[in-house]
Amino acid sequence: MNMLECPKCGVTVDVKSNHHVCPKCGEPLFLSTDLESIVKAGVKSLIPGNLKKVTLGEGRTPLIEYRNFLLKLEFLNPTGSFKDRGAAMTVSRALMAGWTTIIEDSSGNAGIATAAYAARAGLKVKIYAPADAPQGKLRLIKAFGATLETARSRDEAHRKALEDKEGVYVGHVVEPLFIEGIKDIALELVTSGVKFDALVAPVAAGTLFLGLYKGFEELVKIGLIDSIPTIIPVEACGYSKLSKYLKTVNIGCGDTDRSLLADALRLTIVPRIKQIVERASKVSPYVVVVGDEAIGESLKELYSIGVPVEPSSAAVYAAAKYVSKEMSGRIIVPLTGSGLKYVPVSNEVLDKYLF
Ligand SMILES: [Zn+2]
Repeated sequence: MNMLECPKCGVTVDVKSNHHVCPKCGEPLFLSTDLESIVKAGVKSLIPGNLKKVTLGEGRTPLIEYRNFLLKLEFLNPTGSFKDRGAAMTVSRALMAGWTTIIEDSSGNAGIATAAYAARAGLKVKIYAPADAPQGKLRLIKAFGATLETARSRDEAHRKALEDKEGVYVGHVVEPLFIEGIKDIALELVTSGVKFDALVAPVAAGTLFLGLYKGFEELVKIGLIDSIPTIIPVEACGYSKLSKYLKTVNIGCGDTDRSLLADALRLTIVPRIKQIVERASKVSPYVVVVGDEAIGESLKELYSIGVPVEPSSAAVYAAAKYVSKEMSGRIIVPLTGSGLKYVPVSNEVLDKYLF
């Protein structure tokens, strides 16, 4: 039986209900995964088999070596970001629950992913995104047939989506099934046969960080690994939520600087912030906050080795380079989003680094 559970007070609700947060205390819920059935099925996936109702072939992304880094090419998912893993599960829940119109807020990638999986499943979808998101991202949301509503900022997009009552809100910033979709990255890494010592993970809403953590935690529970590895959160300059809670390393980020490049990391209203802080303080010595110059230089370096990522992913690589000076061993760098959504549209800030 797959139930959603409140990590704070233990209340459980059916996955087919329309709760994303605890009806009693308001805490965002998690799926209480039936690990027995996962083990019985041979641990081919950490997602309970009966929960996945729609797919576009997401997951099982390549892992390539570069210096002492292992680059997990998450931008090779169907719509060009790791968000496809989560969107597959969000839309699966909508199908199970019988929701016909769903509402999401996004900086771009999650909107594209949700629009694509909703199209695949035949559901209506409305996406709220900031008007200054990269044009390539906004155009793709519309190309999949979603209704696009723009807002003045990433945070305003979130607030407007919550107010919209014309459908069921499934925002990835709270949706528990979205996090379930991410967990298999942990399984893919552990079963790849490649040894690693730490990971870096971008944090905006925290879905990748929380999904990795939950994945590794479940792998510990079923005895496939001994402990959860070090996972270092990475944020963009001017948009850090974690620095007031955790030791912070700034890379080229002054007090008043705000990143123009890391458009996927600009959310500051983070419903799962306490959950992220609680876990990050167990598995990371610090948070890394990266400024635009370091992002641009890292972007250029990744393109120079043939890896077309978006700027927010380059922020994570910039952080990984710092981490590799602080510790020995191999670091997993999930490259979360594709640069192909950016290149056809000229962009003054970006062009400085790429052209
Ligand atoms: Zn609760």
